[in-house]
Amino acid sequence: MWKRSYVLYSLVLLLLIIPQKAIAIDSIHIPIQIIIDAGHGGIDGGTSYNNILEKEINLQVAKLLYQELQQKGYVAILNRTGDYALSDENEWLGSRSRHIRDLAQRRHLVKELHPTILVSLHVNWSKNSSANGPVVLYQSKNNQSYTLAQMIQHSLDGFFKTKGVPYPGNTYYLLKQNVCPAVIVEMGFISNSRDRHYLTSPEHQKKIAQSIFTAIEEYILLDPGKILPNKEAFRK
Ligand SMILES: [Zn+2]
Repeated sequence: MWKRSYVLYSLVLLLLIIPQKAIAIDSIHIPIQIIIDAGHGGIDGGTSYNNILEKEINLQVAKLLYQELQQKGYVAILNRTGDYALSDENEWLGSRSRHIRDLAQRRHLVKELHPTILVSLHVNWSKNSSANGPVVLYQSKNNQSYTLAQMIQHSLDGFFKTKGVPYPGNTYYLLKQNVCPAVIVEMGFISNSRDRHYLTSPEHQKKIAQSIFTAIEEYILLDPGKILPNKEAFRK
């Protein structure tokens, strides 16, 4: 019995010390755990305050979150790495609406890659400049989406010193898919001066990314079964 667990233990240890690149020899067969959706891009700046654009904040935090996940050994994909609209990559949908083509391209990626979770990053705006703090939107018919939303909300509230409540976001295009649990993270209000400072300063952006990372890790560790390769991923 002891010998068996020793062998198992060594195996786990061996897996831990194999460099990440060696594991990624055939990346096609490695299931994606997290898709990070950097909201807006290109012609679509999202919300704004003077010359501060939401699309830039989303991308900056998305990159930091991606780095954090990668460093800790998670398999993550960032769906936008620069300032461009995803609608430009969408040549398959005949819709004349650029906005719809953009969102459809993001949803298409989710269907193709079958991730464990989707985390979409956005910035909020209100005409009331005192409205502040993060708000996480979830899929109301998906318990896992709600659990993930609660965890991210709680983690971000810890950083922002706020007491937010996750909100059902059923009308949002990216939440209207049943491939995986998805959440939209409205990281803070660009219309509020303190939030704006948090959202635009590199050190605070890092803290925001770390807070989201902590919650994602907590969620994944809750049920390791979730990170096992799914059949869809192996069918390719
Ligand atoms: Zn947005």
